[in-house]
Amino acid sequence: MIEELEKIPNSLVMRDGLEFKYFGSGTWKKSSSGKTLSVKNPYNGEIVGTVQACSTEEANQVILTANDSVECWNEKTQRERADVLMKAAKLMRDWANPLGYIMMKEIGKPLKSAISEILRTAEFFEATAEAGLQQEGEAIYGDTFKGFSRDKMSITYRVPLGVILCIGPFNYPFNLTGSKIAPALMAGNTVVVKPPSQGAISPLFFGLILEKAGVPPGVFNIITGKGSEIGDYLVQHPLINMISFTGSSETGKHLASVAGMKPLLLELGGKDAAIVLNDADLELTTKAIVSGAFSYSGQRCTAVKRVLPMPGIADDLIKLVKEKTLNLSIGNPEENATIGPLISSIQCDFVQGLIDDALEKGATLLCGNKREGNIMWPTLLDNVTTEMRIAWEEPFGPVLPFIRTKNIQEAIEISNKSEYGLQGMIFTENIDLAFHIAQELEVGIVQINGRSERGPDHFPFLGTKSSGLGTQGIKYSIEAMSRPKGMVLNLSDKGKLIKLCK
Ligand code: NAP
Repeated sequence: MIEELEKIPNSLVMRDGLEFKYFGSGTWKKSSSGKTLSVKNPYNGEIVGTVQACSTEEANQVILTANDSVECWNEKTQRERADVLMKAAKLMRDWANPLGYIMMKEIGKPLKSAISEILRTAEFFEATAEAGLQQEGEAIYGDTFKGFSRDKMSITYRVPLGVILCIGPFNYPFNLTGSKIAPALMAGNTVVVKPPSQGAISPLFFGLILEKAGVPPGVFNIITGKGSEIGDYLVQHPLINMISFTGSSETGKHLASVAGMKPLLLELGGKDAAIVLNDADLELTTKAIVSGAFSYSGQRCTAVKRVLPMPGIADDLIKLVKEKTLNLSIGNPEENATIGPLISSIQCDFVQGLIDDALEKGATLLCGNKREGNIMWPTLLDNVTTEMRIAWEEPFGPVLPFIRTKNIQEAIEISNKSEYGLQGMIFTENIDLAFHIAQELEVGIVQINGRSERGPDHFPFLGTKSSGLGTQGIKYSIEAMSRPKGMVLNLSDKGKLIKLCK
């Protein structure tokens, strides 16, 4: 780990040994609380590093500086802000391997996926810079309404909101922090990040990256500490003007209940269902279901979390999914095993509880239901019924239930009965029918003949019901992190040209 850190020039300023500092007001500091939080490798329990347990007073100082810095950052031209994002992207590309290695250690993500998460974030920064440069205002004549003429004209352009609080989850600690930072900065806001405690180290590097890319002191800040200790303080702080949050529905709902009138962007949990029709391409569907359910051991918001097959295809599909699942590699994230550790033993206990409940209520175990340390074997459950918890709860682990359905109507009903509404999937060769089913599904996005997933990152991304609030995606996020400022021009008759036409 130390060797990987040494590959990143200047990484020494942000740490003492493996104790990482937080970044506020343009400097790296240790918390005066004297307390730190350990980040443990979920694969083998070794301590990857420690991060500061910042106090609410330190949080306050950081927010005050971010607030004082809004004007200086907003005065920069769009081009200057875009250049900073481009430089940051370049640094991410240069440091992708060591940064990916550190992420792999702290959250147990396969090394290749961790490195590609860094590169995806670099691309996100580049695309955000380009989209920001295309932002336009709007001019509207008043003459749409009776009694008004073209002498009244509204002119709007976009202005930043102020200080944006960004809180991300453990499963994409770099990308889902970066996808908040880039649009916030591009829109002219200043930023305070609170990263997840398990997965705090890789996002801390945004401090180094943005500082080197030319972000002035105070514009970007990142403080660490437990959400349960400093989260409410940050969310309720009067100088926070907007919150962009990704995490569980439970935390998201709590945050919404204490945030008051602050605008919120919430990306929350999901229970994405794949409806498989009798005419689906079996090979394509199997591939999508297995990679969708088990990449990063199922710890993805858009993982395939339920399969609802029609009677004519269920047996063949389940047989093929089982064959492919049994071939998944299991073990060390450093060796790129698809199935690695879950983030904590508490999470493993939760997933085991869902499996046990299903088996007690009569589900058929096809494979899995085995655990070593934090690694849980990929588990397939057939004959799952709507009485079982696994039909409704998000496991965030490698377990996939098959709920055999009588017909399309029943599949739509079960899909929609969920408290979540992130994504849905339909597998069929009948595209007309797929469109009709898609219109019935109460979710943000429906994938036709593909696994549920976020991206490419300029697509809109949203959830309904308990899955979220607001829309992400590059141009949508820039819009959400800015507001229109309007001016109305009321022209008088002075200087009016005399028209010759009648
Ligand atoms: P989580 O436990 O809800 O934590 C998310 C973040 O919230 C962490 O940074 C956490 O800090 C912080 N937090 C905790 N309590 C807080 C409070 N009172 N105020 C403010 N912040 C607080 O979620 P997770 O386990 O990291 O992530 C998994 C969940 O995220 C799953 O449900 C998944 O579906 C969802 N997710 C959704 C999307 C999407 O795009 N829809 C994407 C990825 C993940 P600490 O770590 O310090 O507790």
